[in-house]
Amino acid sequence: MNIVIIPGDGIGPETMQVSVDLLQDANQVFGLGLNFQHEIAGHDSLQRHGATVTDALLATVKAADGLLLGPMATYDFKDESKGEINPSKFFRKNLDLYANIRPAKTYPGIKTLTGPFDLVVVRENTEGFYADRNMALGHSEILVTEDVAISMRRITRVCCERIARSAFGLARQRQKRLTLVHKANVLRITDGLFLQACADVGKDFPDVVVDDFIVDAMMAHVVRAPERFDVIVTTNMFGDILSDLTAELSGSLGLGGSLNAGDHHAMGQAAHGSAPDIAGQNKANPFSQVLSAAMLLAWHASRSNGKPQYLAAAHAMEQAVSDCVAAGECTRDIGGKLGTHETGLALRRRLKAA
Ligand code: NAD
Repeated sequence: MNIVIIPGDGIGPETMQVSVDLLQDANQVFGLGLNFQHEIAGHDSLQRHGATVTDALLATVKAADGLLLGPMATYDFKDESKGEINPSKFFRKNLDLYANIRPAKTYPGIKTLTGPFDLVVVRENTEGFYADRNMALGHSEILVTEDVAISMRRITRVCCERIARSAFGLARQRQKRLTLVHKANVLRITDGLFLQACADVGKDFPDVVVDDFIVDAMMAHVVRAPERFDVIVTTNMFGDILSDLTAELSGSLGLGGSLNAGDHHAMGQAAHGSAPDIAGQNKANPFSQVLSAAMLLAWHASRSNGKPQYLAAAHAMEQAVSDCVAAGECTRDIGGKLGTHETGLALRRRLKAA
């Protein structure tokens, strides 16, 4: 498997280094035959190539078997005409990575506000309110006058059906429960279309029990009793917000592993951003990026040409995270005393000892 590695901005280089070191160990232990190609995007690329991402980089990623993308300082990238393109959007759109899979679960050893839970947020990734990706040409945020602005949300049957199918398929592999999250009481047409598409796809999954919640009430339900949820499917922005909440409820945003997957490509990228407040201080929790890397290996194993040892390696990486947490070998955000680098060394010891 050829993996393109892009460290990203802020804490990205620190957390990505831990992930690559662990992947290299997994490569040896499980005989995976991994090859890494190191590339840049974001601020580094803007400085060197005049753009945060380039067509040549896209071609490189398309030719590879997977991408590990670090967090990006998206908020800094305001003007596409100056090469300031949101790299996360760039890959999601150009590789059609429509399913953003964001698991969140509690670990024994981390103090949380809730009881134990284990759920997955499945977020549509290619349309919705995200103004930089839902038009063929142009931008769906419009400044009408200096004081009037409009933002448009695109919802299409095809995108709803494919994200629903991903979520139903995942629910079938888990507890066979799926929750639809929407705002169809107000966004009657767009979220009505989302709900109808989910209902239509659901006919192929009669074994999956479905319920639904309005997004605002969902925030209360998921804080009050996250254990009642198994797989949750929703549109782009609701999923973006909800998955940060569920990651934080599990102990920290630094536990938020995430996979962006389409029919032909996949990208492992932690759910959080570049965390400039702790960048370069050896404080970032690397588990989110490590779990994202494990998800990329598991995705590869599920492909028609996938090999079972990739799944074994993914499980071993997840187990190394659990073992480190249980032993308190982790960063301060989840109650440990280690730095990012030292947590990485602990992960490597755990993986090799398993
Ligand atoms: P953030 O997710 O970077 O940080 C939010 C909070 O969580 C901060 O207190 C941060 O220190 C903490 N945090 C995040 N990751 C952590 C980790 N691994 N370990 C420990 N603590 C962690 O959100 P922000 O500060 O609003 O955004 C910073 C930049 O990231 C912005 O430019 C934003 O646009 C961008 N962003 C990028 C992505 C992405 O690349 N996928 C996602 C979200 C935000």
